Amino acid sequence: MAVQITVIGCSPAWPNPGGAHSGYVFEREGRRLLVDCGPGVLPRLREAEPWPQIEAIAITHFHLDHWGDLVPWVWGSFYLRSNGRGPGRPHLWVHPGGRAHLEALGTRLGFPDMFERAFELHEYADGETFAAAGFDVQPLRLPHYTLETYGFRISAGSRTVAYSGDSAPSERLVELARDVDLFICEATLERGELDGEPRGHLSAEEALDAAAAAECRRLLLTHRPAELPVPAGIELAYDGMRLAL
Ligand SMILES: [Zn+2]
Repeated sequence: MAVQITVIGCSPAWPNPGGAHSGYVFEREGRRLLVDCGPGVLPRLREAEPWPQIEAIAITHFHLDHWGDLVPWVWGSFYLRSNGRGPGRPHLWVHPGGRAHLEALGTRLGFPDMFERAFELHEYADGETFAAAGFDVQPLRLPHYTLETYGFRISAGSRTVAYSGDSAPSERLVELARDVDLFICEATLERGELDGEPRGHLSAEEALDAAAAAECRRLLLTHRPAELPVPAGIELAYDGMRLAL
């Protein structure tokens, strides 16, 4: 059974024109995993069905463009439940310490257990594969400024996809993408030297270098500002893009 991947949103930390932020649906045998859930992802999902039938969500890190729509997801869940149309509680996988982080966010945004009420919370651990919606997901910690951040290796059957989340150039990023069928890799920067210190993102050339070192079979650039060029012959993600592996 093939793995279907839908790019829900692929903007960088600010939206491309009309774009949603990071969100990718992995689907196999009718089970669906959402990887990252940035602003704009929830309304896009709701264009296809009244409320997203998502079994599990995995978040790479807590920059807003990768998780922000979990907040309206909470309020929508409460609203539907109060109307007797309650959606289930998707499994929500966050990095070590993520449960406490969500509780602190909840304290400011609503109430401390708001995320616990809407989602079944789990914390993953660096390098330890977890099962989510029929996929095996291995998180690997990556360098991204000073924020705790992970990329995912996502496998089902004989297929493996790597998703960078956000990352500086790194041997770990190459390890993440080693031999995968598809590497979904961010390319936020025009040039690497324009990055901060410590580094946090990749240029397109650095993404290509990582993909070549990892010997992955297919590269899809994402998280790229609309104004920036894309190297000739390289695939660029767009909102609504669908791929089958
Ligand atoms: Zn980030």
